[in-house]
Amino acid sequence: MGGSGLVVRDLSVGYGPVRALRRVSLEVPEGAVVTVLGSNGAGKSTLLRAVSRTLSFHGGAVTEGTVSLGGRRLDGLGPDRVVAAGVSQVPEGRRVFARMTVADNLRAGALRADGGRAGRAAALHRVHELFPVLAERAQQRAGLLSGGEQQMLAVARALMAAPKVLLLDEPSLGLAPLMAERIADTVREINTQGTSVLLVEQNAALALRLATRAYVLEVGEVTLSGPAAELAASDEVRRRYLGVV
Ligand code: ATP
Repeated sequence: MGGSGLVVRDLSVGYGPVRALRRVSLEVPEGAVVTVLGSNGAGKSTLLRAVSRTLSFHGGAVTEGTVSLGGRRLDGLGPDRVVAAGVSQVPEGRRVFARMTVADNLRAGALRADGGRAGRAAALHRVHELFPVLAERAQQRAGLLSGGEQQMLAVARALMAAPKVLLLDEPSLGLAPLMAERIADTVREINTQGTSVLLVEQNAALALRLATRAYVLEVGEVTLSGPAAELAASDEVRRRYLGVV
């Protein structure tokens, strides 16, 4: 109950006997950019998989807790229905369909969307405006794009479903600093256009600049949360995640 955005309440997740999340609660208010920081293995990807209902593809399961969007429960839906309900995930490692063309990758992103042909055309127009290079390379195989371009395609594919909330898993991972900045600018633009963002990042400096609110996840539990500016100023976050001694 409560909250018009994405609300995660007391979520616990296990991979068999491995407890990956313990009673995690967080909120992405409508129109916000919220980030979850945490080191390797803290449970960040697990959290996004639990929201997008793709955990079972990884051998995991939700053991307690709820996820809702605008008051509507998402837990219990299949992954396709979550996309149709307005939540799209950009998976870690920018997994595009390497042998398919850029255009076909984008078409695949729209398959689960609700908006019909007009909605797909509008979504395609939007992603081509955000990422002109994807229009130029429409007929190229996705596997031939550079790492940064593949990340753009992964984001664009998720946007083809015209989501209310975009789940972004480590978009800056493995990218040169300049390309990471470009992706960050685009995330800002996407948010300005009205899409909420839940951003999971190891690059805390970048994430805290983008987000209004932040959560710190450690070994499956939320240990800190607050306005991003406040966390960016906290000694613990500066020491542990921003590398300031
Ligand atoms: P990374 O940045 O390395 O992806 P993360 O914060 O996203 O880290 P998760 O990948 O969510 O962390 O992992 C959380 C915990 O769950 C870790 O202990 C990890 O070993 C475990 N885990 C993740 N995926 C699986 C899986 N498919 N099977 C079993 N255990 C898993």
